[in-house]
Amino acid sequence: MRAFVDKDACIVCGLCADICPEVFKMDDDGTATAIDTEIPDDAKDAAREAAEQCPVDAIRIEED
Ligand code: SF4
Repeated sequence: MRAFVDKDACIVCGLCADICPEVFKMDDDGTATAIDTEIPDDAKDAAREAAEQCPVDAIRIEED
């Protein structure tokens, strides 16, 4: 499972990094970014939650 952030859509609210800091962080350009590796098992539920909560649907989750 992997996560991707649409940086053009991100409104820099910081919610994803709050919900799932194992996967999302705020990048140097101010928008969110996701780790570019497989999401650890113990972070998957939080990553899905972050995608659901993103106010502009900027997070895409690719399940295995
Ligand atoms: S929750 Fe969505 S809009 Fe907010 S920082 Fe994360 S990707 Fe950007």
